[in-house]
Amino acid sequence: TRASNVLSALGLESQGGVLPGVYTGRGWGGTGNVVASKCPTTGEHLADVTTATPAEFHSVIERSREAFHSFRMLPAPRRGEILRQIREALAAKRDSLGALVSLEMGKILSEGIGEVQEFIDICDYAVGLSRMMNGQVIASERPGHTILEVPNPLGLVAVISAFNFPVAVYGWNLALSFVAGNATLWKPAPSTPLCSIAVTRIVAEVLEKNGVDGGVAALITGGHEVGEALCESEHVTMVSFTGSEHIGAKVGRKVQGRFGKVLLELGGNNASIVMPDADLSLAVPSVFFGAVGTAGQRCTSTRRLYLHREIAPRFLDALKKAYAQIPTGDPLVSSTLLGPLHNQNAVKAYHKAAMHLHEVGAEILVGGKVKHPSGFDQGNFVEATIAIPPSQDLDLWKRELFAPILNVAIFDELDQAIEWNNSVPQGLSSSIWTKDIRNIGKFIGPSGSDCGIVNVNVGNSGAEIGAAFGGNKRTGWGRESGGDSWKQYVRWSACTINSSNEAPLAQGVNFSL
Ligand code: NAD
Repeated sequence: TRASNVLSALGLESQGGVLPGVYTGRGWGGTGNVVASKCPTTGEHLADVTTATPAEFHSVIERSREAFHSFRMLPAPRRGEILRQIREALAAKRDSLGALVSLEMGKILSEGIGEVQEFIDICDYAVGLSRMMNGQVIASERPGHTILEVPNPLGLVAVISAFNFPVAVYGWNLALSFVAGNATLWKPAPSTPLCSIAVTRIVAEVLEKNGVDGGVAALITGGHEVGEALCESEHVTMVSFTGSEHIGAKVGRKVQGRFGKVLLELGGNNASIVMPDADLSLAVPSVFFGAVGTAGQRCTSTRRLYLHREIAPRFLDALKKAYAQIPTGDPLVSSTLLGPLHNQNAVKAYHKAAMHLHEVGAEILVGGKVKHPSGFDQGNFVEATIAIPPSQDLDLWKRELFAPILNVAIFDELDQAIEWNNSVPQGLSSSIWTKDIRNIGKFIGPSGSDCGIVNVNVGNSGAEIGAAFGGNKRTGWGRESGGDSWKQYVRWSACTINSSNEAPLAQGVNFSL
């Protein structure tokens, strides 16, 4: 009943049958392979979902392109009005959708609901944008000439998303892509098909009501083969990919290989730096959330903690106290703070990493073991872990491990901590805890953190939609959500218009007979 309550609230009970996982704008279908959705908390089978055959794959692309041709002519403020209705429809189902995220992905309910709220927020943002996606008028050097920079719709945008944000990442992309006038085709992670079906149904209903071809928000569930086909297709103008560094490297090469546009949001390996003057009553709970929240499965999760020698013992004592009482169990229960990992592979990777910490002689302060909370024998639970590795030279500092393991090191000078912060291949999120304006200036400036997210007295994870979100280096340099991100979802036309009776050439070039 726990699962069926959540599923029935969104009309997702499959009653032993198979749910169609392909939406083309002309109804639901898919006769390809079947993917299963499994609950990470209980191990129970939630539903089977159909994917598309290769032939169906091509017809989905064709349908979306067809839908794009009419959609691009709709004025942007009108697209914004439809997005406003999508926002309302999502808000009406926010808590049920949040519970579905919690059931299928495994994050706690409050974070599941927060993720849907993020989709609602970016819709608000994009509704505003629909009347503000401004180009420019530029001074021309030629008399009677005017130069315009005009944003036009791009075409077909494929969104390939990760399991850990099964709603919000699509939301960030859909809202901007939609308002920019594109058709969007979503390929979610194969293990979270129900979230994508529930979201697409909500969006599709609004489109239908407005007489807009649903092909502008198409869905194609499936695994890597569908992702690869999307990357290869010449009909896909831009691929917006969110996922691991390893797969992102393949996606980047493949799309760039055909000169398609690509936006990459890849793994993070994020550090917090705590200075001696930090307010520990703020810093400790924030680091606790950063490292333990979402069971360490956010791209922005805190994985490295650099403590100034002066406050290290006090900080670690307080952090250990918090770790000693983490309510672990069903993420749908409101008091739970630590839910399961998403799948058994993640549990294996966690176990291997914990063993490795032992082998290299790390001091394990808390955790390190796979866990079976009572009543959840089949769930993917692990203990949140704090370790002090014996040196900075170890490879374990350089990799993103998608589990709640926090590695700690102690420093004496801020420069040293910044060097460590920047010493990894990834560059997503970072934070410093200090009251000294000189430390703040350094951290956010040219010799400071090299990450895309550089926070002061704010933890690494939990970004708002207003700023552009993304990371540098092996995180892929992509930016999504707020800021100037929308500019990537349009094609820019530089237009020089001559309204004079002469036709002079630029730079005074003379080419007359
Ligand atoms: P993943 O790389 O395994 O899968 C991501 C998506 O890529 C899935 O939809 C998958 O089916 C698809 N895919 C797999 N092989 C493919 C291929 N060859 N071509 C095209 N698509 C392919 O990632 P995951 O395990 O689902 O998610 C966790 C990762 O995502 C972590 O590394 C995390 O840091 C990252 N992430 C990054 C951000 C960000 O904004 N930077 C946000 C969320 C998650």
